[in-house]
Amino acid sequence: MGKTAIVIGSGFAGMSTATHLAKLGWQVTLLEKHSTPGGRARQFCAQGFTFDMGPSWYWMPDVFERYFAQFNKKVSDYYTLERLDPSYRIHWPDSFTDIPASLDEMYTLFESLEKGAGNQLKIFLEEAKFKYDTGMQKLVYKPGQKISELIDIDVIKGVFKLDVFSNMQKHVHKFFKHPHLQYLMEFPVLFLGALAKDTPALYSLMNYADIVGGTWWPSNGMYSIVEAMHKVAIEQGVTFLMEHDVERLEVVNKKINSVFCKNGETFSADVIISGADYHHTDTKLLAPAFRNYSDAYWESRKMAPSSLLYYVGLNKKLKNVLHHQLFFDVDFETHANEIYVSKQWPANPLFYASITSVTDSTVAPQGCDNLFLLIPVAAGIANDTEERRENYFLQIVKRMEEKIGDTILDSIVYKKSFGTTDFINEYNSYKGNAYGLANVLTQTANLKPSISNKHINNLFYTGQLTIPGPGVPPSLISGEVVAKYVNKLFA
Ligand SMILES: Cc1cc2nc3c(=O)[nH]c(=O)nc-3n(C[C@H](O)[C@H](O)[C@H](O)COP(=O)(O)OP(=O)(O)OC[C@H]3O[C@@H](n4cnc5c(N)ncnc54)[C@H](O)[C@@H]3O)c2cc1C
Repeated sequence: MGKTAIVIGSGFAGMSTATHLAKLGWQVTLLEKHSTPGGRARQFCAQGFTFDMGPSWYWMPDVFERYFAQFNKKVSDYYTLERLDPSYRIHWPDSFTDIPASLDEMYTLFESLEKGAGNQLKIFLEEAKFKYDTGMQKLVYKPGQKISELIDIDVIKGVFKLDVFSNMQKHVHKFFKHPHLQYLMEFPVLFLGALAKDTPALYSLMNYADIVGGTWWPSNGMYSIVEAMHKVAIEQGVTFLMEHDVERLEVVNKKINSVFCKNGETFSADVIISGADYHHTDTKLLAPAFRNYSDAYWESRKMAPSSLLYYVGLNKKLKNVLHHQLFFDVDFETHANEIYVSKQWPANPLFYASITSVTDSTVAPQGCDNLFLLIPVAAGIANDTEERRENYFLQIVKRMEEKIGDTILDSIVYKKSFGTTDFINEYNSYKGNAYGLANVLTQTANLKPSISNKHINNLFYTGQLTIPGPGVPPSLISGEVVAKYVNKLFA
């Protein structure tokens, strides 16, 4: 009989770890507090509308292909991918820009906004491709346990081209002067949870992912990824125990001896890997003596934002909308400061709207639209009240109505909000973060919270708060890296 493992949490990272370990011959039991898998990427249906609860941008299709290939499967065995064109729309104060899928059209768009910017984009993307390829091949699939992991002749030779020590804002401003081009090129790093000026320019690899890799829609939504990973996990022999909320890890002789669930059941295994939020595992499931990090450490971490979300069903089809649109129609810097510096509720927030029924007729009743709205807010923000949520809703919907030239408020037949307190209650999320830790230089690679516990020999961590970072593709990678690391240690 192979070695046994318990994985906590069925988010992308937990499922990836469990499936990789099972493939390597381990007997794996996954304990999940919710009744359905997927964590932050769960889905719900109400009144004929289907909503992906969290991620909505399918980027880096190569990472998903690579994931399934390791289990002799292809993405197309589970869902089809449609490239969105335009990829998305950005609303400015007085105009909007559609981002074309075609690279040639993108060069033309840049050139139309700033003389010479088309050619600049070519150079920018060549550099970004180098970073993407090097990152994927040499940097992200590393457990972050030793500095020597990063010693690679190609990485050393290319260290200046990787731009680790410059920041994204400087990098973008070096290439482009038009403010719309600057915001457009800085927007992808917002996914990484920090301001462009605090994000290493290495992450212009995200522009490559955006502009060259493209924005895709998986048939039936982002939840198709969860369903596909769940199927593969079961095929590999993972046992899923849903509604198993882990409340305590008991340590005996530097080993987790027992995993206690709130329903009274107890489990044990050779190795425990937690894909639940790192801070929750470290500070709530373990006794203080066994924590990896102090309260002061956690307090000093730069968190990616939380989000205020709305899931809205409309009894009509909206005019003048795309699948994805960003509302950068108010002052970018003010809202960014409210998220990252003053950490206060924004006066006039930027927001994002996704309407997946534009692409997929199965996610809303006929003649209807499903609307997902996201306002980024500071992690840890207090007073997430119903009244505040309603005020923001009215504020952004009014702006959206003006921008698209159509009414929304008079057509709402379903509405639900989800905010910081829900992130805490539903996912045990530290400070209600939506996307984990910000990818600033001091929290990159080996400087992230470690995948190993320094006091306990058989406890490991995976997920968006450890390597390589936030996002769906990185969470898949996190699970793979941790599973392979554990297998090597215990084989
Ligand atoms: C609103 C939003 C939008 C996003 N948009 C995008 C996007 O467009 N593209 C993209 O790539 N990424 C996006 N992300 C980020 C991406 O969704 C996450 O990085 C990723 O889903 C994190 O996966 P994870 O496995 O680390 O964590 P989670 O999904 O949080 O999984 C952790 C799991 O552990 C479970 N758990 C917690 N505590 C316990 C316990 N005590 N016992 C048992 N189980 C427990 C939870 O229920 C959960 O299922 C978005 C995230 C959010 C929230």
